[in-house]
Amino acid sequence: MKTIGMIGGMSWESTVSYYKALNRGVKEALGESHSAKIWLYSLDFEEIKTLQHQGEWQKAAKILSDAAQKVEAAGADFLMICANTMHKVAAEVQAEISIPLLHIADVTADALVADGVTKVGLLGTQFTMGEAFYKDRVSEKYGIEVIVPEKSQQEIVHNIIYAELIMGEIKDESRQRYLEVIEQLQAQGAQAVILGCTEIALLVQQHHTKVPLYDTTDIHAAHAVKLALSS
Ligand code: GLU
Repeated sequence: MKTIGMIGGMSWESTVSYYKALNRGVKEALGESHSAKIWLYSLDFEEIKTLQHQGEWQKAAKILSDAAQKVEAAGADFLMICANTMHKVAAEVQAEISIPLLHIADVTADALVADGVTKVGLLGTQFTMGEAFYKDRVSEKYGIEVIVPEKSQQEIVHNIIYAELIMGEIKDESRQRYLEVIEQLQAQGAQAVILGCTEIALLVQQHHTKVPLYDTTDIHAAHAVKLALSS
């Protein structure tokens, strides 16, 4: 079995979801008391959040790259950045290590392509919804049209992530607001919606809506398990 490298703590609430999904995935595949081999470098999210909101992406890239090098030196076979937003600096991180980076947008787009989805809604932080690094990768590399909520709804989605979900607060009224945004994306032609922030599945799950949801945490972890168990 290969050793999975993770940069987590962005936030730790979703790293817990990753940790469970990776271990459950290996146990399902191998049975008995098998579990995943993992090197996890868990960051202090307050530092990352501050740099994100100051637009100091190169400083954040340096923190992630240093963590990635430590994880590689420890013996990980490949690396996962356990957040969507910080894939904004994925290329900078990949340039500093020689193990492969399992890109969260690629594995998500692969799942959409496999299901024949050609137009998808994207929820995430304002960085993920508003900037090109994620949307363009999915549309240009995979030919999937990506739509995002309008500005005021993006703000609601973003604020709920930072003020509640990364703090472990799950509120019914916030779920309701997300479900309204998801339905609106469907009304605009989205066949499915990407939960493009690794905490969103703590709030909204498939049983809450008929709109097909693609949970990036789950998809990313499932691919990591496959990769860890491949020869
Ligand atoms: N975990 C989140 C994501 O997947 C948000 C926290 C962050 O900004 O990294 O984007």
